[in-house]
Amino acid sequence: MTKETVYETDLLVFGAHPDDIEIGAGGLVAKQAAQGRRVVLVDLTKGEMASNGTVEERSKEAEKAAAILGVADRVNLGLPDSRIEVKEEFLEPVVRVIRRFKPRIILAPDSRDRHPDHIATSNLVTQAMFIAGLWKRYPDQPPHRPQKLFYYFLHYTREPSFVVDITDVYRKKQEAIMAHVSQFGTWPDQNPTELPHLLKRVEARNGYFGSLIKVEYGEGFYSAEPLKIDDVLTLV
Ligand SMILES: [Zn+2]
Repeated sequence: MTKETVYETDLLVFGAHPDDIEIGAGGLVAKQAAQGRRVVLVDLTKGEMASNGTVEERSKEAEKAAAILGVADRVNLGLPDSRIEVKEEFLEPVVRVIRRFKPRIILAPDSRDRHPDHIATSNLVTQAMFIAGLWKRYPDQPPHRPQKLFYYFLHYTREPSFVVDITDVYRKKQEAIMAHVSQFGTWPDQNPTELPHLLKRVEARNGYFGSLIKVEYGEGFYSAEPLKIDDVLTLV
């Protein structure tokens, strides 16, 4: 007899840096949370290598953004910023956080990206999701098998497997991004970065994905495997 899997979290969303989730999947997160789903965010690093903002400031900003998005919890694994790679030392905390929150669906950054941390996070979460189901790995914690893994886009995109209409939560997504003021504000003594222009780029991206499904704003996601549908009429 196989034991039935218990899911305690609907969506567990991973990001490498404290603002990644907001940029790539903030709309989906806000929308699911507003629909009463239990959503938990996991940042792998504290973003200590960013040109602006201290770790303390960034942690407060991440908390504020989480409150705006309406998620149940947000945790930080404290892995080293700019040094994420797929190795045992980093795999274990990711596996353990999946087993702790028992999600039905996992979201991670897409592996096609410019930032090595985003690529590594994508690969790390992909491996961890599989290993979380193996009861002989870290046997002190019960195994857990999430049902699906979808990837969101940061620097680059590809043809999305599906697009979520985020029009009704778009302002909330923007607000959550702007909560990271140390990253997106413009101060006289701030190190020069491209970040003040980011909101515009996010809007262009979400406008484009929205145009693909004839809505104002959309977020695209990639699935490595085809999506199973029982009733095609649920798509219209
Ligand atoms: Zn990032």
